[in-house]
Amino acid sequence: MLTVAPASRPAPAFLDGAPKQLLIGGTWRPAASGETFETRDPATGRALTSVAAAGPADVAAAVAAARAAFEDPSWADISPYQRSRILLQIADVLEQHADELAVLDSLDMGGPLWMTRWLVDHSVEVIRHYAGWPTKFYGQTAPADPGAFHYTLRQPLGVVAAITAWNGPVLQLAWKLGPALATGNTVVAKPAEWSPLTALRIGELLQLTDLPPGVVNIVTGDGAHTGEALITHPGVDKISFTGSLAVGKHILEVSSRDLTRVTLELGGKSPTIVFDDADLEAAARGAVAGFAQGSGEGCVAGTRILVQASIRDEFRALLLREMEAYALGDPFHPDTRMGPLISATHFARVDSYLDAARADGGTLVTAGAARDLYMPPTLIENVGPDARVVREEIFGPVAALMTFTDLDDAVAQGNDTIYGLSASVWTRDLARAHRVARRLQAGTVWVNTYAEMSAGTVPFGGFKQSGLGREHGTDVLAAYTEVKSVMIRLP
Ligand code: NAD
Repeated sequence: MLTVAPASRPAPAFLDGAPKQLLIGGTWRPAASGETFETRDPATGRALTSVAAAGPADVAAAVAAARAAFEDPSWADISPYQRSRILLQIADVLEQHADELAVLDSLDMGGPLWMTRWLVDHSVEVIRHYAGWPTKFYGQTAPADPGAFHYTLRQPLGVVAAITAWNGPVLQLAWKLGPALATGNTVVAKPAEWSPLTALRIGELLQLTDLPPGVVNIVTGDGAHTGEALITHPGVDKISFTGSLAVGKHILEVSSRDLTRVTLELGGKSPTIVFDDADLEAAARGAVAGFAQGSGEGCVAGTRILVQASIRDEFRALLLREMEAYALGDPFHPDTRMGPLISATHFARVDSYLDAARADGGTLVTAGAARDLYMPPTLIENVGPDARVVREEIFGPVAALMTFTDLDDAVAQGNDTIYGLSASVWTRDLARAHRVARRLQAGTVWVNTYAEMSAGTVPFGGFKQSGLGREHGTDVLAAYTEVKSVMIRLP
């Protein structure tokens, strides 16, 4: 492992001045309580700025503003073409500020600049993808007797609570704003308290477009107060949540009171399956990127590496070589592949899994020593299927290395988890790839690649406890609309 030297740190103008406020009904205002919290740069530990901590009164005001905007003709009655045009404006303004948004995310959550820049570019493409839908999302005419006309309408749900995790702030917001706005909903967004800055800057950028005030509102704060006030508010018609399994389950319980619509994008414990005929160099690169890229703070992280027993030693050597070359360091240095973990709390949590691995008899191989919030890629060997590090999501650069005998064993071990978000399969045998892809219980299966993302075209989401519903594809449009059947008796 290389450790790259600190680079100079940018100081975006957005961070100057007074505490950041809440966007409610098109105006910026402090929390009613006046409370704020600090957001910190994980690379330096320094506070970047302070941000309003929204309470129940602020959340209620944001939901009311979103409701008013939903019913206002300036949003409710615009043509599909106008809706498309507004989404294209949003994509344009994000693209024009892509550098700034990437810098803010790197400062706020510690991801390397090349990665946060990629995430912003991807988000722009995603919004452009959704800009195409308003003019192409049809209802149906249904077979009926000659004296009747039966058809369906797809109508927006109303107010969407968009709650996101801290690890991919711009991307996660874009994945929710795109379909919510394309189908005519309004939004109250609550970014994660550890990385709220880009959502707030995007709120400012939206004001440069023709999006009517109140269509997107932004409330910042923690989960227990701000998030809880949002998910329990009776004026919310849908909760679109990206985050942990525990909070996802809680949201599902809360939503059952009013049958609030819910989409859940939760965690994972994804397998990387390497067969003996694979391009082993490529597989090793993919496997290490799979668990170490973004410091392993990714829902699709491939944290269970399953290698065919006959090539275990050869593949292990390639993995270690790749881990050694994985540059850990300052997010703003161009050579950095992984930055710091997001916070001391999270570092301690990830570190506790290393102790758990030792307690379960595991052996650790690390590419270097941990320092401050920086943790090198770490491989755990000699652990069985019941070890905590094999069963639980760690959300750090830690993977378990295990072996399998044949295809059936690979599939059985790959599916031996409560999660089912993603998987990757490495083989040159296409028939084998298709067979394994069909049998893996995962929302996304990558073959000879890892973490490839479509710009909205391919559904994304989880089997089993990795979630409920899908983002992207055509499925997502149904998730942001109700279908209405209209039956007309003709005179
Ligand atoms: P988290 O569940 O702690 O928090 C996620 C969001 O929910 C935050 O905005 C938080 O403030 C909010 N929240 C917390 N408690 C809440 C409550 N009671 N009511 C309403 N909102 C509440 O998750 P995290 O630690 O921020 O993120 C890491 C998790 O997110 C991991 O499990 C990861 O796999 C998952 N994740 C999933 C995807 C995906 O697309 N499937 C993407 C990224 C992250």
